[in-house]
Amino acid sequence: DEYIPTDLHQLTKEYVWLSYHAVRANNKSFNVAIQEEYADDLPLVKVIPQDFSRAILNLMNNACYAVFSKSKEIADATYQPTIRICLKKEGDRINLSIEDNGQGISEETKKKLYTPFFTTKPIGEGTGLGLSITKSIIEQKHNGTIGMDSRPGEYTRFTISIPIQQ
Ligand code: ADP
Ligand code: MG
Repeated sequence: DEYIPTDLHQLTKEYVWLSYHAVRANNKSFNVAIQEEYADDLPLVKVIPQDFSRAILNLMNNACYAVFSKSKEIADATYQPTIRICLKKEGDRINLSIEDNGQGISEETKKKLYTPFFTTKPIGEGTGLGLSITKSIIEQKHNGTIGMDSRPGEYTRFTISIPIQQ
C-alpha cells in the first residue's frame, strides 16, 4: 500500500461523479441533485488513493440507495433527492461529509452499522461490507475517524476525518 500526496478535492469529485453516473446508468429517470462544497485552502494529503476512493464510493452508493428508495416509497413529486458533499480543513484535519435526504437510519440499525455483513437491503442489493471496510480504511490506514448522524425519514450524514500529517 502506497501513501501518495493527494489532491482530495480532485479525488472526491471524481468518485462522487463516478457513483452518480453509475446510478443514473441503471435508472435513467432518477434525478438526484448533487451539491458540492470544496474548501479552497486544502493541502495535499498523504492517502492510499485506491482505498480512500473506495471509502468515498461506499458512502456515495449508500447515499444514492437511500434517496432512491425514499423516492420510490413516497412517490411525492415535491421530494428532491439530494446528496451534499462537503470537504474542508479544520485545524490539522481534513473533514469530508456526505449527507443525503434519504430514508435515514433507525436506532436499531445504528447499533450494527459497521458490523461486517450487516445489511437491511434485499439479497443481491447489499453485501453489508461497505461500512465495515470504509471504517477500517479510515481508522487503520489513515489514522482517522468516521462518524454518523441521522434522523429517520429525514437525513443521514457520514463524516470522515483524517489528520493532514499522518
Ligand atoms: P450495504 O450497503 O451492502 O447494506 P453497508 O455496510 O454499506 O452495507 O451499510 C450497512 C447498512 O447501513 C445498510 O444496509 C443500511 O441499512 C445502512 N445505511 C448505510 N448508509 C446509509 C444511508 N446513507 N442511509 C440509510 N441507511 C444507510
Ligand atoms: Mg453499502
